Amino acid sequence: MDIFCKISNGEVLSRTIYEDDLSKAILDVNPMHPGHILIIPKKHFTDLSDIDTEAITSIMNNAKVCKKLLEDKLHPDSVVLMLNNGQAQEIKHLHLHVIPYYAQDPNLSIDKVYELLTG
Ligand SMILES: [Zn+2]
Repeated sequence: MDIFCKISNGEVLSRTIYEDDLSKAILDVNPMHPGHILIIPKKHFTDLSDIDTEAITSIMNNAKVCKKLLEDKLHPDSVVLMLNNGQAQEIKHLHLHVIPYYAQDPNLSIDKVYELLTG
């Protein structure tokens, strides 16, 4: 079982930012920039071609919530979405990166980011 399936079923803990019945947004433990979020479907899908409409809708709604949270709390200059899917990716469980970009990265630890986004 891959790490995102384990996070979905609660076997592995994560810093959860937002979730609904079908998807979960967590902080990336190796952020590209402070506030880097991953959105994962709770059910296992490898590829965009396989995912059902309800799950992809949940992921995109989740992305909207996270983008607004990032903008309200961390004030990035832009927020980029990047979908990882298919067999070539490191973790073969489809996931959407929500990555904030800043003129200059704020000096924030992952725990401080978590506190800001969930407080
Ligand atoms: Zn999985």
